Amino acid sequence: MKNGLITLEYVNTVIKRRKRNIHKGDCGRILLIAGSFGMAGAAVLCGRGALRSGAGLVQIATPEELFPIIQAGVPEATCVSRKSLNLDRQRYDAIAAGPGLGEDSEDADLIGKLLKEYEGTFVLDADGLNQIAINNMQEKLKNASCKVIITPHIGEAARLLSIDIARAKAMDRQELSRLLVEKTNAIVVLKGEGTIVATPQGNSYTNTTGNPGMATAGAGDVLTGIITSLSGQGILPEDAAKSGVYLHGLAGDLGAEKIGEYGLIAGDIAEMTAIAIKKTL
Ligand code: AMP
Ligand code: MG
Repeated sequence: MKNGLITLEYVNTVIKRRKRNIHKGDCGRILLIAGSFGMAGAAVLCGRGALRSGAGLVQIATPEELFPIIQAGVPEATCVSRKSLNLDRQRYDAIAAGPGLGEDSEDADLIGKLLKEYEGTFVLDADGLNQIAINNMQEKLKNASCKVIITPHIGEAARLLSIDIARAKAMDRQELSRLLVEKTNAIVVLKGEGTIVATPQGNSYTNTTGNPGMATAGAGDVLTGIITSLSGQGILPEDAAKSGVYLHGLAGDLGAEKIGEYGLIAGDIAEMTAIAIKKTL
């Protein structure tokens, strides 16, 4: 069992310079299952986080009526209809589900299918986690065929554990992250000041970047994009989770340095992720 900090020295060992002859197919084809009516922005921010952290091809599975707004927000991504998604025809290097997803039961079925059949890295966040809690899919999550990374904030953590939020807030965060690992068997990214990455092997790592300016809507959606992107680029799930939270926090720190904590918004964090990566190379 290891307890440690997530530092620049560590991230340096994970993020490598690109080979000169690389092409986009080598940089990860990823799928983001995100967005619902009124929450298209979450899908946009997730897509931008993914692209700014180097994903080669980003596809967003979303309701058709959102295609125009998402494609305007993130023209580098393609959209696919969530209803007619054919997972057997397309191979993805990593998949995420959750940002702005909503609570439609058809999406719970899709998450269930991925947990059962997908073999890559699967990042679950936001309503993806709420869907697990609402539909009692904890066992499916625990027995998943894929490597799962979950990225709850404190409210989502409480819901997953079926405890009230006041109790979750009062608990020691190391202890809370450990309970989440026991319940899900996933790599747990417990967000907030000093984000913790806890693993099924019993290891726990605390992030050293980030600031209160990141307490802003959509910040977590950007993180989901980053971790999925790094996973899609062939980085092992534990390293993708740890280096993803570091880079996301560093992007927030660079953004706050430039424009201050009060005005920082999630879109800035996505854009600054590019500079954060540049600084770690
Ligand atoms: P979400 O609540 O899903 O939008 O996620 C918020 C993101 O911002 C997470 O990555 C948090 O770790 C980060 N964040 C929020 N508040 C703070 C804070 N006070 N200090 C550092 N990071 C924060
Ligand atoms: Mg969130």
